[in-house]
Amino acid sequence: MNIVLLGAPGAGKGTQAQKLVEEFGLAHISTGDLLRAAVKAQSELGLQAKAYMDAGKLVPDQLVINLVKERLQADDAKAGFILDGFPRNTAQAVTLDSELAAMERNLDAALLVDVKPDVIVKRLSSRRTCRSCGYTAPAGVDVCPRCGGEMYQRDDDKPETIQKRLDVYQTQTAPLIEYYRGHSILKEVDGDRPVDEVYADVRALLTA
Ligand code: AMP
Repeated sequence: MNIVLLGAPGAGKGTQAQKLVEEFGLAHISTGDLLRAAVKAQSELGLQAKAYMDAGKLVPDQLVINLVKERLQADDAKAGFILDGFPRNTAQAVTLDSELAAMERNLDAALLVDVKPDVIVKRLSSRRTCRSCGYTAPAGVDVCPRCGGEMYQRDDDKPETIQKRLDVYQTQTAPLIEYYRGHSILKEVDGDRPVDEVYADVRALLTA
């Protein structure tokens, strides 16, 4: 099963991806996580990406595409993958299609986790993220329930950057909903419900 997850930042894509990974053994390819790891490691890519990320802008396509291409070739992605946070614009989606075609693979579904913007703003501004494993939880959780790491507020989850990220989502990423509808692989769930209810729908849609 090869899946693309769509939805605004904070819609719950990462949480649903994690559940799919646990149940179906898919590789979880989160470009946000890969970029944050590069920033932490102060690699060349991290140094190039940081300013864009801090400003809530998209990192240039070529940097992210190279990262994804490499990750898709890895052994754990052979049995199937979930792309979380990629593609973020039409150029990335077109490149993904051609890369997959070259690998004689294809996407089975583009799953939209749909949450309205006002709910997103509330969720993101109270979101805390684990420095070690990327697990997310609401403010007030100081120790990661999954790995014991320190929970912190991502710079780009601060109010001044949230609106910028939502604008970028509306203008650049939301058009992908129609792109994948046109490819007849779009599936949609209402993400403004408890995690397990959303997952029950996700599961039903993907295994139908
Ligand atoms: P995320 O964790 O998916 O919200 O991503 C955090 C930040 O990483 C975004 O605001 C972008 O700056 C950058 N980023 C993640 N994925 C992409 C992508 N596919 N294309 C460009 N920039 C990305």
